[in-house]
Amino acid sequence: MIGENAVTATVAAQPQTSESFLAGPLPAYVYDLVELGAHVRDIRAALGDVELYYAVKANPDPELMRTLAPHVDGFEVASGGELAHVREHFPHAPIALGGPGKTDAELFGDVTRLHVESPGELRRLLASGHSADVLLRVNLDIPIEGASLAMGGGATPFGMDPAGIAECVALLETQSAVRLHGVHAHLASGLDAPRMLELAAAVLDYARTLGATEINLGGGMAVSYADPDDRFDWAAYGKGLAALRRPGETLRIEPGRSLTVYCGRYVTRVIDVKRVHGELFAVVAGGTHHIRTPATKGHDQPLVMTKAGEPITIVGQLCTPKDILARRVPIALKPGDLVEFTMAGAYAWNISHHDFLMHQKPSFHYLTR
Ligand SMILES: *Cc1c(COP(=O)(O)O)cnc(C)c1O
Repeated sequence: MIGENAVTATVAAQPQTSESFLAGPLPAYVYDLVELGAHVRDIRAALGDVELYYAVKANPDPELMRTLAPHVDGFEVASGGELAHVREHFPHAPIALGGPGKTDAELFGDVTRLHVESPGELRRLLASGHSADVLLRVNLDIPIEGASLAMGGGATPFGMDPAGIAECVALLETQSAVRLHGVHAHLASGLDAPRMLELAAAVLDYARTLGATEINLGGGMAVSYADPDDRFDWAAYGKGLAALRRPGETLRIEPGRSLTVYCGRYVTRVIDVKRVHGELFAVVAGGTHHIRTPATKGHDQPLVMTKAGEPITIVGQLCTPKDILARRVPIALKPGDLVEFTMAGAYAWNISHHDFLMHQKPSFHYLTR
């Protein structure tokens, strides 16, 4: 749908099979663009008329974005940096910009949709005289159970409560430079399709009280690191949204993690195996400064199970007890063995503290067949 020209330009300099990257330096990030393309095509098909934007903060790697571009309606960005990045690689792509604490440059930038986070932001925008097409970000006071992160459903710095929204609507009534298109909501992450649909129904009920015809329901579709095969039910979600949508309404979603997480692997090698006070540890090249995900989410990063063995805790090279990639994994490992962590395509490399300890950076590989 977008970036059709960019797609044919470059995919990867040298097509690689799934084994050839092993000849190069490790640790390595390996992104399977074939798998990513198939995944986003399935999602696109399940969504029918619902617009799909990719939340760039999940992984801004241009190769991944190029694979996604033909299947998405636009990109959602959360900073001036992400905005410049998308503009550079996809000059014609529709862009929605959101996020709390926008600078003037971010607030007055030229985007397809601006997600207003507060009455204060809107006042600055109106005072500037810039024109803009806006959605008002709402934080509804509704119970959100079972979410891994909650951006709404109570007092948080994200979006506005209905009183804040009402203030914005009143501010917008007397002018025409800033055009109100509807409502944006990104209330939680980690919810399955039935619960996402419950939230969607609540957001739509609210949006209709404002007469909104454009509703962005956010991202946050569940991803299970404990059970990588337990996937978000896009078919049920697409059907549910089709049933909720009324004629004349535009629905949009902006997932990040659930699009790109599965296509990435972090591959490394065991440097040392040791037993300390009875516990077995494998120290691998790299660590959480390359893939911070298990440290931030407090989980064990899933990995490809090879030969079964005594439970072993896999740690990185950092001088901190927090550098744990996976605990007590029943896998046989010896120095020199490969370890392949999966689900490393989102919130992995780009959220990691690369410069801590100044270890060598990973190499990056893109599988195109
Ligand atoms: C982070 C974020 C997303 C994407 O969330 P995922 O959990 O990666 O799907 C979408 N919209 C907003 C406003 C966000 O902050």
